[in-house]
Amino acid sequence: MNTSPDPGSSSSASKAAPGRITGPDEAVEALVLGNERFLADSTDHPNHEAARRRGADGQHPFAAIVRCADSRVAPELVFDRTLGELFVCGVAGNVPTPEVVASLEYAVEMLETPLVVVMGHSGCGAVQAAIDHAENPDGLPGHLPDLIRQVLPACTETAAAAEHLSAAVERNVRNGMKRIADRSTLIAAAVEAGRCRIAGGVYDLTTGRFDFIRD
Ligand SMILES: [Zn+2]
Repeated sequence: MNTSPDPGSSSSASKAAPGRITGPDEAVEALVLGNERFLADSTDHPNHEAARRRGADGQHPFAAIVRCADSRVAPELVFDRTLGELFVCGVAGNVPTPEVVASLEYAVEMLETPLVVVMGHSGCGAVQAAIDHAENPDGLPGHLPDLIRQVLPACTETAAAAEHLSAAVERNVRNGMKRIADRSTLIAAAVEAGRCRIAGGVYDLTTGRFDFIRD
């Protein structure tokens, strides 16, 4: 990590580890600033040696991220963070399956992670597959129908949109956020207590920008 200040920011969140990020607002800000560094090609973490050494003492990730398994979506790079800072769960279509929700619960409850982020992305193949096979998801091979069925609601709910894929990607993120809150009383309680926030956003594969979804 270099010690130069982040351009345009005097926030405490811009000072990366070892200062621990403990609140939802600070966590969101850290991701926003990290994405700005990624976009400017001025990352704080050209190597990860110090973080690797700290890792032996445990982990304190400040954000738990549900990302698509797509190889072009890499949270540590996109948000310019290092080892031990992001608790990343990857599944095609960034679907919060029961196992993913359990993983998020581990982060929120055991690791005191203050932010949960559902991370969709432009041009998502899983969402496109759901659009293409909306009438007959069982026509897909292997276990794919089970996964695609969970993305289908976002596609049918946005069927009238001019840009169907991008609208469905955003809706799928919103549905994921809602599903996490609905399925996990534990995380919902942490949100209610102000210890955690559930957020979501879409990563643009072309520009590298991550935009949080605003209500
Ligand atoms: Zn995807």
